[in-house]
Amino acid sequence: MSDADDIMLLLMDGRVYARAATDYRSDVWNDFDLLFYSSAADEKEGYTGYTLCKTCKRPFKHNRCKSGTSHLRTHRKRCAGETTDCVKGKIQLTILFGDAK
Ligand SMILES: [Zn+2]
Repeated sequence: MSDADDIMLLLMDGRVYARAATDYRSDVWNDFDLLFYSSAADEKEGYTGYTLCKTCKRPFKHNRCKSGTSHLRTHRKRCAGETTDCVKGKIQLTILFGDAK
């Protein structure tokens, strides 16, 4: 099993691709894609065991059967706090108070 750094390199290389997790019901999958090896014969065989956060483009370990989604949820909260909400907050502050320098 490759580690997260290898997965990132393979993804940039086009040897791993990201696909929406349409077969999962949990809403956490709105924010994560599944990563598959391009060379594999089918998706079942090609699943890397990693997901990709759509917000920060970082891979996270995930086993379809064994691991739940709680670590993904935890990350999503943190990730949203660090990026999306933070950026939104700054924009709102700029609107309210002008561009503070
Ligand atoms: Zn993220």
